Amino acid sequence: NGSYPNESEAGQTVVIGSSGFIGRFITEACLDSGRPTYILVRSSSNSPSKASTIKFLQDKGAIVIYGSITDQEFMEKVLREYRIEVVISAVGGESILDQLSLIEAIKNVNTVKRFVPSEFGHDIDRAEPVEPGLTMYEQKSKIRRQIEECGIPYSYICCNSIAAWPYHDNTHPADVLPPLDRFQIYGDGAVKAYFVAGSDIGKFTVMSTDDDRTLNKTVHFQPPSNLLNMNEMASLWETKIGRVLPRVTITEQDLLQRAQEMRIPQSVVAAITHDIFINGCQINFSLDKTTDVEICSLYPNTSFRTIAECFDDFAKKISDNEKAVSKPVTASNTDIFVPTAKPEAL
Ligand code: NDP
Repeated sequence: NGSYPNESEAGQTVVIGSSGFIGRFITEACLDSGRPTYILVRSSSNSPSKASTIKFLQDKGAIVIYGSITDQEFMEKVLREYRIEVVISAVGGESILDQLSLIEAIKNVNTVKRFVPSEFGHDIDRAEPVEPGLTMYEQKSKIRRQIEECGIPYSYICCNSIAAWPYHDNTHPADVLPPLDRFQIYGDGAVKAYFVAGSDIGKFTVMSTDDDRTLNKTVHFQPPSNLLNMNEMASLWETKIGRVLPRVTITEQDLLQRAQEMRIPQSVVAAITHDIFINGCQINFSLDKTTDVEICSLYPNTSFRTIAECFDDFAKKISDNEKAVSKPVTASNTDIFVPTAKPEAL
């Protein structure tokens, strides 16, 4: 369980976007795997929460390099000087095309053994969400075609949804507790999706980067134990909090309207939510291309965290918070996680 193939051969890895939502999971997993881990951090980034994430990763052993992937000359220097073999990018939705200059740098240096571009969602060559989700998918697709044209060795990670309540207006739902007041159920709530723990997205992504079986492949995360519909998710959460919550229907039209509002990034999330829970984009295709691989079949002895376990973590946060608020306020318990039923749209 949790063993990494070819660990002794694990190469120098650079993670781009470590201070971000997905990038942090990737970087932690990279460090846990024991491989030399560099993280590229933009010096322009000045948010305190991002700075504390970087500090946390540095304390775990990450080596910080300051710069941006849009500086091609600098990136070529980094790839050469640090003898980087694996590049994992987790830049956010608004920076997808920044990766074009990174691809040029990787092509020119020609020593990178695996590039994982920023995807971490659905198979963009199959799914077709409405706008503005579609524009983001077209940008990710442009990155794929450029990688292939340059002959860069790659893996495309299609990890599906993160294990959390799938709020339709929040790009980072795992940062927010599941509802405590009412459930918003998309459509009839019967369409299933794969909900994968962030730590597993990181762990299995890193494992796949030095595995020959994932070379130039699209890697699908389809753990059977993590396939649930919204009605099942709601019932499971009710067992964790010990009470039943009202269920409100959000119709297909509601989601399409939210998408049409073109508020970025919320409308992107609404478009993708529509594709998942109305169109069934995670489950309406078979893995019939020669480039498809499924992660559980590659690592049958490494288990995924279940949704029940992830919901236990959320329930624990609530109970820790309740204990903390019943204590007198001291300097050490003033920055506790405050549960909120309202998603903080980003
Ligand atoms: P975030 O916006 O949280 O983080 C983006 C990171 O990329 C930040 O660290 C940012 O640095 C860095 N970055 C952006 N541009 C550059 C650049 N030019 N050079 C160096 N670093 C840069 O991203 P997310 O985690 O939300 O998204 C990452 C990927 O995961 C996306 O492809 C997204 O679509 C996908 N995703 C999937 C989810 C799922 O449930 N499956 C959920 C959320 C995202 P800085 O601090 O300087 O801004």
